[in-house]
Amino acid sequence: MNTEMGNQKSLLITIDGPAGAGKTTVSRMLASHLDFLYVDTGALYRGVAFEVFSREIDPENDRELEKIVPDLNLQFEYSNKGTRLVLKGDDITDRIRTPEITMLASKVSASPIIRNALLDVQKQMGARKSAVFEGRDMGTVVFPDADVKFFLTADVKARAMRRFTEYGDGGKQCFDEVLEDMVKRDADDSSRAIAPLRPADDAIIIDSSGLSPDSVVEKMVEHINSARPKTRILGQDQGRRKF
Ligand code: C5P
Repeated sequence: MNTEMGNQKSLLITIDGPAGAGKTTVSRMLASHLDFLYVDTGALYRGVAFEVFSREIDPENDRELEKIVPDLNLQFEYSNKGTRLVLKGDDITDRIRTPEITMLASKVSASPIIRNALLDVQKQMGARKSAVFEGRDMGTVVFPDADVKFFLTADVKARAMRRFTEYGDGGKQCFDEVLEDMVKRDADDSSRAIAPLRPADDAIIIDSSGLSPDSVVEKMVEHINSARPKTRILGQDQGRRKF
């Protein structure tokens, strides 16, 4: 990657890994520390799932899926309310985190039609400026030439516990159900024929079990700096934070 933009070089960092490994938290922190764009590609698959759900489409019927692609029009909008996901003008950010949409996102993400449609969207986003892309196939398929690739993982029970805690009192599932969904989603994401979840050969693997998000980001910044010693990245808030 590493495209020249004027005199500035843009840098692309990818963070892949299974659900609940802490990708979203550390990707956001890393992007904010570096003053890079942050892109949550899982939200795009959730956006497609939302459309599939709303139109009552069978997620395994390719013909039906093909019909929704031309007018998908999924966009991220950056506002003082944070990053919002907008589908055909409708802000769906808060409606894509339910357990139903989560499982449906995993289903639609196995479709080559949907993956191809989102591939172009993601590549266009990555061409614009320095960014941290979070997902499942960022380092393997979407950005094989990314400058630094991470694969963040953790013990499945620790991941399920994180997700269970995130759902809080509003969650409809008990811990065992969250764990069961996670085991199923891991198996589906890793075994699908197209873009299965796996670390890229040149990815740096970090196990976040027992590590705080700060420690994970600190490790990542060290790796980024050692991968690019000549253009040492200090981050916009260097001096205030320890990493
Ligand atoms: O990351 P998140 O849990 O929001 O992703 C939702 C689903 O979208 C995942 O279970 C996965 O199946 C799919 N996904 C994907 N490729 C990506 C990002 C997410 O297949 N790059």
